Amino acid sequence: ARRKAVQSWQGPGRTKDGTAVEILANVQDGAGARAAAQFPAQGVGLFRTELCFLSAQHEPSVAEQASIYGEVLAAFPGQKVVIRTLDAGSDKPVPFVAHPDEENPALGVRGIRLGNADQGLLERQLDAVALAAEQQGVTAAKVMAPMVATIDEARNFAAACRSRKLSPGLMVEVPSVALLADAFLAEVDFMSIGTNDLTQYTMAADRMAPSLAALTDPWQPAVLHLIRLAAMAGASAQKPVGVCGEAAADPLLACILVGLGLTSLSMAPNAVAAVGLQLESVTLEQCQRAAVAVLRCTTARAARATARELLS
Ligand code: PEP
Ligand code: MG
Repeated sequence: ARRKAVQSWQGPGRTKDGTAVEILANVQDGAGARAAAQFPAQGVGLFRTELCFLSAQHEPSVAEQASIYGEVLAAFPGQKVVIRTLDAGSDKPVPFVAHPDEENPALGVRGIRLGNADQGLLERQLDAVALAAEQQGVTAAKVMAPMVATIDEARNFAAACRSRKLSPGLMVEVPSVALLADAFLAEVDFMSIGTNDLTQYTMAADRMAPSLAALTDPWQPAVLHLIRLAAMAGASAQKPVGVCGEAAADPLLACILVGLGLTSLSMAPNAVAAVGLQLESVTLEQCQRAAVAVLRCTTARAARATARELLS
């Protein structure tokens, strides 16, 4: 019966008492976006552009890039689409990007840091997004930067976006951003928490290492407290702050995230219905109470058990 209910969930995302929560899809290219549009997602919360180029030997021209980004915009006409600039480096090397040999690639030159060596790469990508948006009739297309760690990075990125009439956002993946969330959010229009990297960097544990799974667990209390800081910044600035890491695909954790005040959840398309259904089974107040109780827990195990007890 549950399986049937999941299959027939149609959205839009909301709690039992009707509080709206955007339920969005993570996609990696035009085909992926068209496939995601078959699921009851309300848009795209994370378009990982680097995944379009994992085998590209040469940087695609602005026009070529615009055609790819345009496909994703076209798959969700009139709906929210958040395009992330290249998160090349670390686990996602892109052939046309010069990646130096690094001792610790996850702590090295990746994401927004690529701009230190070649600001042109970001400039051309933003030109391509602006062109795609114009071709698709999208105003103030949403663009966000990965791996931001400093206010200067946020400020420079926001200025580059605004000069092209794009709406800038930041990913919260480095603890420094969560800790100073108010200051970072003041620079941009929205933020999206990448729980995969935020957990990796908070717990100092490689997200690719199966033997460290107990550490790379978004239920770790320290991670949840950082998420709370970002959520509170969003509430006080009245700007959207969502989650686009794997944590959003865990139906119980999704309820906790909503209880913390996050306004959107973006996930693999096949997780959308299960999360939507779970959210509809609980009230906002239940989520808020559960979030308070979970934040008192000092282990991931206790946090999970507490959520399960209060929400299912
Ligand atoms: C994340 O880090 O949680 C995230 C969504 O980005 P990626 O998984 O692409 O690093
Ligand atoms: Mg990430």
